[in-house]
Parts: sequence; C-alpha cells; structure tokens
Amino acid sequence: MPVESPPDAATRERLLTLRDTIKRVINYRTFYLRYCPPNAHPAGNRLQTLCPIPAHAHSGTGHPSLSIDLTRGLFHCFSRDEGGDAIRFYELMHGVKFARAVRELARELGLAGRGRDVPSLAQRAAPDVDEGGASSGEAELEPLTAEQLGVVCETLLAACRAEDQSEGLGYLARRGIDAGTAARAGVVYFPRRAYRRVMRKMQSAFPLEELRRSGLFNARAHLTFYRHRLLFPFRVEGRAIYLQARTTAAGVEPRWHNMRGVVPSLYNVDCLNELASGSVVYLVEGFTDTLTLLAHGFPAVGLVGAGGLKEEWLAPLGRCRTVAALDPDAAGRRAAERYAELFAARGLALARITLPADVNDFFRQRPSAALEFALLTEAAIEGMKDEG
Ligand SMILES: [Zn+2]
Repeated sequence: MPVESPPDAATRERLLTLRDTIKRVINYRTFYLRYCPPNAHPAGNRLQTLCPIPAHAHSGTGHPSLSIDLTRGLFHCFSRDEGGDAIRFYELMHGVKFARAVRELARELGLAGRGRDVPSLAQRAAPDVDEGGASSGEAELEPLTAEQLGVVCETLLAACRAEDQSEGLGYLARRGIDAGTAARAGVVYFPRRAYRRVMRKMQSAFPLEELRRSGLFNARAHLTFYRHRLLFPFRVEGRAIYLQARTTAAGVEPRWHNMRGVVPSLYNVDCLNELASGSVVYLVEGFTDTLTLLAHGFPAVGLVGAGGLKEEWLAPLGRCRTVAALDPDAAGRRAAERYAELFAARGLALARITLPADVNDFFRQRPSAALEFALLTEAAIEGMKDEG
C-alpha cells in the first residue's frame, strides 16, 4: 500500500470542497446498498442491516446493528458505536484515508478526471467556446428550424420532468414562487445525479448533429446543461420553442445558459391570450420577477435583461394596458424610457411603476406587497391619463 503523506492546507481545502460536491451529487441509496447484504431493504429513508464494516469483525449472526439515514447519508453501527458520513463509510469499507476516499468517490461520480489527461464531466459538459469562431466548428452548424427546435425542447423538458424536482422547487420556493406557479409556467429541474440519464434520453431521441445544432450538446457530444439545470421554457401557443436555464448553486458563473439562437418572444407571452382586452399586464425583467407576479395573481410577461424588448413584440401587447415594473437601477430606468418611446411610436401607452427593489425582493420583503403593488398600478395608470 502506498504511503500517504498528510495533505497541506491548500490540498486539504480542495479536498473539503470536493467532499461537499460529492455530498451534493451522490445517491446515498445506491451508494450504501452496494455494500449491504443482498437482503437489505430500506424502509422509507432508513436502512437497518447487518454491518459490513470489515474492521468491526461482526459474527454476522447477531441483530442488524448498522443504521443508515439515506436522506442525510449518515451511518451508525450500534454494536461498535461508530458512525459518520458516506466518506467515512468508504474509508472504513476500503481501509483508506480521507484524501483517497474523496478522490476515489469523486472519480466514480465523474467529478474529477482520472489523471491530468482526462477532463472531468463538468469540463466535458462545458459549452463550446468561441461560438461563431471558425475553430470550434460551431459556426458551420446550420441552426435547426423553429419546428425542429420545438421538438428538441419538448423532449428535453419531458426528460427533466421525469426526474426529482425537489431541489428546483426548493430553490423557487425560497424566492416565494410556489410549485403550482412553476408547474403552470412549465419550469422543470433535474438533479445533477440525473445528468447522464437525461443526456442519454436526448442521445437516443436525436442524432448528435441535431443536438449540436440546437446548442444543447457540445462538440464533445455532451449535454451542456450540467451546471444549469433549472429550465425555463419560452412557450408560444402552449408549445416550448426555446429555453434558458439557471444554476441553483452559489458561485457558478455565468448564472444562465441557453440553447443556440436568440430569445424568440417575451417570456410567458401566452398569458396575453387569456387576458380580456384592456386588462393590465406587467412588463418585468427576467423569469423570477415574472413568476413572482404570477404567483401573486398579477399577469406578467418577462424580458431577458432590461434592454431585451423587440419592436415586433409590441403588437400583442396593444390590446392590454401595459405597466412596466423594471429594476430600479440605471439600466432599468433607461430601458423604461426607451420602451415608453417605442410604445408611443405605435400609438400605445406604457405606464410605469418604480419599486424600491426588484419585483421579487419587493414581494419577499413586504407582507403587504400585493396591495401596495395594486395601488401603485392604479396610480401609474391614472397618472398616465393625466399626462395624455
Ligand atoms: Zn459494525
């Protein structure tokens, strides 16, 4: 057995980060069951079984002494009063030290390369760089037709919908967006441990060339939505035609990732079909603000970035009374000015409300936000009449 020297501080730091990543992606059920006797069956998220830890040298005839919490990934052997997390369990089962346990588990989960030559799964999943540049080959890829892109989109969304949504819904819930609103907007999520399964479903449904043309796959034949797994579809007449995805992890840049091509419509544009003429509709920035308003019963359409409004999207807004609630920063103010001019050039009015924070923060921070928002809307529409 090779002698392991104790890791220095920097290595130790890297190992701890890697350990945390392992804990985010590992499937505890699969992991622990691998070491348990074949007759071990979990009851809910608990597993009580004969303890397989070699150093414990159990006779194998007594009571099952190993208890495993499959939700938190913790084990405890009551007979020897020893317990810990999955890393510790791996150490005990394989007779290795912490550093080696972390490295081996990471490799197994595709989190780290086998050596310097083999890139990690995250690296292999990275979107092709220099899009439009000659070297990547991306530029030569003909974009898919809107029809084809729609089919690819719907297939990916269905594959994600089949996976565990709880982390994605938890992320939205922390922002005040309930599961019902997310479902109505068609938002889906897949956990990182489902990455390969989702990728395989796409590979079996479409030729690689088509997947690359959609921008979902890169030149390494990997699904590029590896860090960005909360998916927001753009739907027109009930069909997804494009999507953008967000990371739910802290510290990942960029926070957004999308298919190839340009944003094809206002986000949630379908909501306009359900509105009576003359109804109020809000124009906001981004998915979160749009969904926040929907969650509180205010119909809204979203722009990607403050400057994202295109002139050809104005016509369907014409039947409604549009109220802009853009971010209260310089970019938001400039955009609101410009949009007011765009609307005016078409003989349309654009009312504006300015909140002390973005829409999501406003609704999260103030218990009476919905009422205040309704009052601000009334005032904005009244003020517009006075001007006109
Ligand atoms: Zn034991």
